[in-house]
Amino acid sequence: MRRTVPLLLIAVTFAFLLTTLVQAARDFYEVLDVPRDATKTQIKRHFKKLSRVYHPDKNSGDEESAQKFMEIANAYEVLMDDEKRAIYDRYGEEGLKQGGGGRGGANMFHDPFDIFSHFFGGGHRQGQQHQERRGPNIAVPLQVSLEDLYNGAEIEVDVSKQVLCDHCHGSGARKAEDIHTCDVCNGRGIVIKRQQFGPGMIQQFQQTCQKCNGKGKVITHNCPVCNGQKVRRGNENYSITIEKGMHDGHKIVLEEEADEYPETIPGNIIFEVKTAPHPVFERRGNNLYTIQHINLIDALVGFRKTLKQLDNSEVELVREGVTQYGFVQTIPGHGMPFENEPSRKGDLFVEYQIIFPTEIDDETIEFLKKGSKFPAKLPMNHQEL
Ligand SMILES: [Zn+2]
Ligand SMILES: [Zn+2]
Repeated sequence: MRRTVPLLLIAVTFAFLLTTLVQAARDFYEVLDVPRDATKTQIKRHFKKLSRVYHPDKNSGDEESAQKFMEIANAYEVLMDDEKRAIYDRYGEEGLKQGGGGRGGANMFHDPFDIFSHFFGGGHRQGQQHQERRGPNIAVPLQVSLEDLYNGAEIEVDVSKQVLCDHCHGSGARKAEDIHTCDVCNGRGIVIKRQQFGPGMIQQFQQTCQKCNGKGKVITHNCPVCNGQKVRRGNENYSITIEKGMHDGHKIVLEEEADEYPETIPGNIIFEVKTAPHPVFERRGNNLYTIQHINLIDALVGFRKTLKQLDNSEVELVREGVTQYGFVQTIPGHGMPFENEPSRKGDLFVEYQIIFPTEIDDETIEFLKKGSKFPAKLPMNHQEL
């Protein structure tokens, strides 16, 4: 029993050392968990998510988080700068250390905390980070073609939404230095007023600070891009995976991608799958339904034809003898793939409609009358729709 403690200690220390070593050599793309061809939007999104988790304000005194945060901020700074990113891609971190990016002051971020304050509205007002506000979710109907639902697809969707201003990242200020604590209320947002309404009688009341409108902060220079509005209308492109057989009403949630507001965690975008109308097939759950037109001869003597399926394969349609108007042929296993079991498929229903001739000559009429094979009533085996 006595040996367990030191052994455990050694193990923990070793594990910690190992993590530190591994982290030190980690690739910037890995740090931000983005692919090497990631767009700036992708990088920005991942940075925002990670920094919410590792910001030291949330992990008070936790050294590992602090280190992780520095790492994230450092990777972000490099990957958002085209020039630095190009150097990093070619020569790695060493290339950057050797002054490869010999361009002064072009990047506005140097201190990782500065980046954070730009994103989340500046300053580290006490207690604020613990009660984060959350923006509303947005529901977006997503019309998906039947082909994509049949085959599965990766589709690109543009969503118009409110985003934080790229320049001030939602602070509304020109630079971080332009945000000052309000000198009237000392950052509290409220002021105490006293009013005398008689000899020795003083009333004391609180009032929202007029100078800062209760915000506790004053911006001396507004951001030139958004004019201090902090947000703008934007368009964001998302790549969405459509799985084979996704049913109508299936919800695809993109966490924290809804409208952005300053000092607020965005809500989710919720895409709701809706099958788009198709010229040939109609989807009914896991089954497909189609109407095929045949001519009178085919209806009387039978036929063999092919129907192009949603994956461009060919389905054989074979009928022998007479096919009644409106007859529905079931072709098992040629419907939609099952959502969670795509190797299994529903059925395909083919309804036949007969194209009759617009006119018929006397000779044919005489010939047909002679035959007298045409029943006066519907035969017993007539299949209803
Ligand atoms: Zn004030
Ligand atoms: Zn701005």
